[in-house]
Amino acid sequence: MVKALFFDLTDTLQNFDWDKQWPLLQDIIKKEISYEIQPGQLKKYYQQTYELYRLGKIKNDFDFFDLLFKQMALNITKEKIEKILLQHLEIRKQFTWLPDNYNETLIELRKHFKLAIVSSGVWPWGDYDYEKIFGFKMKKHFDLIVNSYDEGYLKDSGKLFDIALEKMKLKANEVAFVGDNYEKDILLAKQYGMKTIFLNKKKESLGGDITIEKLSDLLSVIKKIETI
Ligand SMILES: [Mg+2]
Repeated sequence: MVKALFFDLTDTLQNFDWDKQWPLLQDIIKKEISYEIQPGQLKKYYQQTYELYRLGKIKNDFDFFDLLFKQMALNITKEKIEKILLQHLEIRKQFTWLPDNYNETLIELRKHFKLAIVSSGVWPWGDYDYEKIFGFKMKKHFDLIVNSYDEGYLKDSGKLFDIALEKMKLKANEVAFVGDNYEKDILLAKQYGMKTIFLNKKKESLGGDITIEKLSDLLSVIKKIETI
């Protein structure tokens, strides 16, 4: 009997169009330091630095940009970094948004299940998006949030599942994991003994125990979830 739903965050509870970020960020950097970063170079170093940030090895945006620029052998003043990091947060509203019927879906689901987020995202950015762009705290609909930034492990390690299950006093087979990435969410959760709900946004020929195409589809399969 499924008693709880664990959710992936990125592209499950919150949508991103990352490709929109690179030219916007490139423009900010060009404006602030008169330096034209090649898009490929920016993306490469950004993603490398992002890996450290989501593990909590970098603690804040200042340290993120400081390291990013150092890796690119650019010597940027503290004042310029402060300006860039604020604009980097500001542009997020142009490429991140919530799925349709987000609030209604989670309010209804919570009448039937405990709800948790288990995520490997950069926590300070998630927090910013919910509070400043969407206008409420991310934890509003959730009993628990476990993230790699605080715990120091990525979801892939399984450790975040251990922590979430222990805190919620649940067994793996009492949980259904909801995620958009077949390998990183569905196969991982399945290996771990959880039930799986695949959010198949790209209409791949793959499936979980239950497969849906959008978050709000969860409402039409509540009975089914309870018995998988
Ligand atoms: Mg995802």
